[in-house]
Amino acid sequence: MRPALVVKIGGVEGLDYAAVCEDLASLVAGGRRVVVVHGGSAEASALGTALGRPPRWLTSPSGFRWRYTDRATLEVFAMATKGKVNTLLVERLQAAGVNALGLSGADGRLLLARRKPVAQSVQDGKRRLVRDDFTGRVEWVNVDLLRNLLDFGVTPVIAPLALSRENEVVNVDADLAAAMIAAGLLADSLILLTAAPGLLRTYPDETSLVAHLSRLQVEEALTLAKDGMKKKVLGASEALDGGVSRVVIADGRIAHPITAALEGRGTTID
Ligand code: ADP
Repeated sequence: MRPALVVKIGGVEGLDYAAVCEDLASLVAGGRRVVVVHGGSAEASALGTALGRPPRWLTSPSGFRWRYTDRATLEVFAMATKGKVNTLLVERLQAAGVNALGLSGADGRLLLARRKPVAQSVQDGKRRLVRDDFTGRVEWVNVDLLRNLLDFGVTPVIAPLALSRENEVVNVDADLAAAMIAAGLLADSLILLTAAPGLLRTYPDETSLVAHLSRLQVEEALTLAKDGMKKKVLGASEALDGGVSRVVIADGRIAHPITAALEGRGTTID
């Protein structure tokens, strides 16, 4: 079977969706089996703000930041990601000739996640317990469903929601979801497109790009990355551990961003 390519499209502002979809279309037309995963962070924040629920962020004791997702925020997150971002990506891809099929990780039990009943966050140096947070960590991927969709000739476009063990819908990190999907499919490449040239040694200096990392250097790279970039480096490490051949953190603001990433532009981790 032809190996799959997993492309995660970042949810920050600044990505060139037209260029990403055009590039996806040429890869699919060339016979590539592609799974698309997307974020929606900026859209979720904008919609939440418009609805009087501006985003609130929490930080874990190990320094990872996440969106505080109570039930009302989860509804906003679903509207923004599965509602708007997913539908508009499907529209663009269909216009480019790709038979894109939009779904979230909750559909067809595509992604199962672990939701912590009590999460810990650190605020002003103090630990706080958070009990009403609907955020999860993807633990299992319905690889059979994805393979069947790919065999059927459609291109799955996946919004970052999953089902918890208790069958609740939860918000999941799209980078880590993409990493689990890539590992499940034993993808040859996982491309994480964002609004930066890749991992920067001295963020935000865009000339300080780290062009290549071996998997042994990932721990060290985690110290360079902040915020969302930390999850990408962690996702890269999990994907490689899961059997993916290489991960590229790449610029989604340029022309032919995926082809460029496959040719080595960005931060290649292998
Ligand atoms: P996305 O929605 O694409 O996943 P995130 O905001 O989650 O984007 O993560 C990417 C962002 O991480 C970059 O746009 C940048 O602002 C930030 N960042 C933090 N540290 C670094 C770093 N060392 N190199 C590059 N970007 C970094």
